[in-house]
Amino acid sequence: MQQVKPRLGRRLVFSHADSIRTYDVGPLLTAFVRARLLLVNALRNQSAQTILIAVGFLFSIVALLPKLAFAQSANYKVRVDFGHPLQASVEAELDVPDGLVFTAQHSGGYAWWDFIKNLHQIGEDGSSVPLLSAAAGLWSLPKRTNRRVRLAYDVDLSFAEKARRGDLRGGLFFGDSLYVVNRALFVMSNGSGAKNIEFDIPPAFVIATPLQKISGRAFRTADNRELTDNWTIFGRLPVVDFSEGKFQVTFAFPGVNAEEGSLLQPIFTPVLHEYLRIFPQTPATHLFFAFFHGAEDNGEAYLNSTTLTMVDPITPKDRILWTNLLAHELFHHWNGGLLVPHDNDKTEWFSEGVTEYFANRTISRTGLISQELFLKKLETHVAMYDYWMWAPPFQRTTLETAGADKDYNRPAVYSGGVVAAFCLDTTIQKQSRGAKSLEDLLRLMMDQYGLTGKQWTRDDLVRDASKIAGADLSGFFSRYIASRGMLPVKQCLTEAGLDAALLDYAGEAFISFQEPHHRRRLSFEKASHSSSETPVFKFAPISIWPWLMIGLKSPSLTMSAVSSTM
Ligand SMILES: [Zn+2]
Repeated sequence: MQQVKPRLGRRLVFSHADSIRTYDVGPLLTAFVRARLLLVNALRNQSAQTILIAVGFLFSIVALLPKLAFAQSANYKVRVDFGHPLQASVEAELDVPDGLVFTAQHSGGYAWWDFIKNLHQIGEDGSSVPLLSAAAGLWSLPKRTNRRVRLAYDVDLSFAEKARRGDLRGGLFFGDSLYVVNRALFVMSNGSGAKNIEFDIPPAFVIATPLQKISGRAFRTADNRELTDNWTIFGRLPVVDFSEGKFQVTFAFPGVNAEEGSLLQPIFTPVLHEYLRIFPQTPATHLFFAFFHGAEDNGEAYLNSTTLTMVDPITPKDRILWTNLLAHELFHHWNGGLLVPHDNDKTEWFSEGVTEYFANRTISRTGLISQELFLKKLETHVAMYDYWMWAPPFQRTTLETAGADKDYNRPAVYSGGVVAAFCLDTTIQKQSRGAKSLEDLLRLMMDQYGLTGKQWTRDDLVRDASKIAGADLSGFFSRYIASRGMLPVKQCLTEAGLDAALLDYAGEAFISFQEPHHRRRLSFEKASHSSSETPVFKFAPISIWPWLMIGLKSPSLTMSAVSSTM
């Protein structure tokens, strides 16, 4: 793996551990260079006007300096009281340049300001004055003698005491641990500078959070977004750390019992290994996942952390469900996280479909599920896509427009996306005569967009896919993605060495491996019809599914589990 090189420009990037802080030195640098040039000229020419201008520029430097040098960190002390009612008390010391403090915006069904109680300003003499509400989630300071302000408030966390729909977006208390989205905890200001956070919790409790750790219970973030667009978990809970090279992942399981933990733990290392094989250029990072039993099966991504919830307990019987869910969400770090589409709605089929396709493949390839289960999963996707193409309510929708309403068009975005990804894979393999696959397309995209921070567009995708396939694939995208053309599902399956019986109006799909002798015959027949010396289908069944066909075991594992309390 390699570190991403910061792009050169006027913005200097200082990287420290997991946090990146940026300081815009552009204006300062420009003013300094101009002033220096003018002063040199002034000394040469003795022109009073030039000297005046130079002095003016020097003043502008002096005016810019405080921004750089005197931005003071905000300091928060958060004491969590795990009694009943569940609550936290917070003391904050922060710069308030405009006299206003605020909570995070309403999100996920939570109005964060509802939970902030007794918000008051503490004077230098120890006096306490309540803050005045200026609007929902916005308060103005009663006393504005200083830029630096001390605040104190309580956070009513009783909303986390019961599971509710969307609880992964707010918080949930499990008796011995608390999952809380940081938006609930912090009243912020427009002051620049880092934020320091110290948690006061019982000594036996652990803290799992993507905030940058300074010491045992002290953390730091670069800005308000990093502070609040993440979660923190306190208490007694299983936490699994695993890594490969410079890629680290922490999984926290509040409220998950030891038996469930022992089922979950083995899945991460092989899945991560497979993803890093697909994307060897992945930049070093540390990902944080929370998994718990909430009110619904759902997932939510925050800035440096992701949350997944399932209603049902983790059991060996439904391994296919939770294994795939975790593999799917982890793959989003690359597809969606690093590869960011410019027009999200129109490319949801790619973000979700390719992610689901690789998740399905990966859990089969690494031996976490059987080949039979993989085929069943594929049958579901093909059947859902076929039915979606047939069903009257969706006749005006294409795979491209389906992303505008992901829930309503779920069969298109997810299952249709998988079928499109599958057919794109076989098409690339066929066109490149087995030399390239969808993996090569993803690697190219990672180089061009993932590592540069550039968002990819639909046109980029068509061009890149064509480049990898060595053939113009614009027809594939215009026919099957932008229009309602039916993907040649049977043909794609055949080329991958699979037989299929499909019934669109009934939503039925039956897929099986071709008999080995049939596969050979097919390759031979196709080859004999081809004018090319290289048989067109020679590589297809072999290169797409070698690991399914020959039952290849998990790739050899070289990573180490850093620590495990599970
Ligand atoms: Zn997804």
